[in-house]
Amino acid sequence: MTDSATSSARPGWHTLSADMPGAVGGTPLIRLRKASEDTSCEIYGKAEFMNPGGSVKDRAALAIIEDAERRGVLKPGGTLVEGTAGNTGIGLTLVANARGYKCIIVMPETQSQEKIGFLRMIGADLRLVPAKPYRDEGNYVHVSRRLAEEGGYVWANQFDNLANREGHRATTAPEIWQQMDGKVDAFTCACGTGGTLAGTAMGLHDAASKAGVKAPRIVLADPEGSGLYGWVKDNDLSVSGSSITEGIGQSRVTANLEGAPIDDAERIPDPEALDIIYSLLIDEGLSVGGSSGINVASAIRTARKLGPGHRIVTILCDGGARYESKLFNPTFLRGKNLPVAPWLD
Ligand code: PMP
Repeated sequence: MTDSATSSARPGWHTLSADMPGAVGGTPLIRLRKASEDTSCEIYGKAEFMNPGGSVKDRAALAIIEDAERRGVLKPGGTLVEGTAGNTGIGLTLVANARGYKCIIVMPETQSQEKIGFLRMIGADLRLVPAKPYRDEGNYVHVSRRLAEEGGYVWANQFDNLANREGHRATTAPEIWQQMDGKVDAFTCACGTGGTLAGTAMGLHDAASKAGVKAPRIVLADPEGSGLYGWVKDNDLSVSGSSITEGIGQSRVTANLEGAPIDDAERIPDPEALDIIYSLLIDEGLSVGGSSGINVASAIRTARKLGPGHRIVTILCDGGARYESKLFNPTFLRGKNLPVAPWLD
């Protein structure tokens, strides 16, 4: 994969795409005006909500399917199984539809109704399970693994399948490097599987080393209720607090996260992320979900630490419409003592 950071960026909108999977990636990098002005830095968000399935996880889904095809474990008409907070399930189901596979998706029932409804709409064989910690055998990841074993299906295993981060190393990172003209001082994003952070970080390191320039600073963005901030800061994975954000936060070091070149971490409380989500929407016309708010908050903190004139990139993971019933629902937010966007009342 050493050449991946400069060779295989996906083509983007200006190129004909033969099919839906060919339209995954190649997303715009958007300058975040207010965040940039407030910090006297240049802060950019990679618009992953523009992928065909509406999230950054389309990249992992495609990379995992293509890896399974190459290894010969996924055969025509085959069935994939995955445990997911929703977005990977959407990406896998859509790519599977395009390629003639079937998909069984196991998901905790606490995830947003919008994601659950969308998965049903696109024909996923959806199995909702009660939310349980990873150490419990009823956790959605273990349920999906057992289903795959029992049925002889292909388990996508996004958390520990390195095809996930290699997909980001081969596409997300070189796209950012090209779009930024090789001038990136820092990259920050949150982790669910860790595929986006680790793969993009490794790919940016590949590109910097090839160009003979200093590698960007890599900052992990973490919500409350996740162990990763403590892991980066003190090698301590213990967890406290909670977050309404979905798809991010982790209590273990996944195979995808293992060995990632992480320099620092920021822990972002929900109110800080929500204020940013509302500002991105009303000041800049960008509708994003909870993890994007955590990411942009971390980019702003990173900019303040680095000082004026630096160039920082983060990920806009998915769109706000996926969370209308939570992030934009005054009753839900007030029930959790969280800020409500003024125009919603
Ligand atoms: N944001 C959202 C909305 C997600 O669904 C996910 C994945 N669950 C992430 C961020 C984290 O991405 P990764 O799995 O690559 O760490």
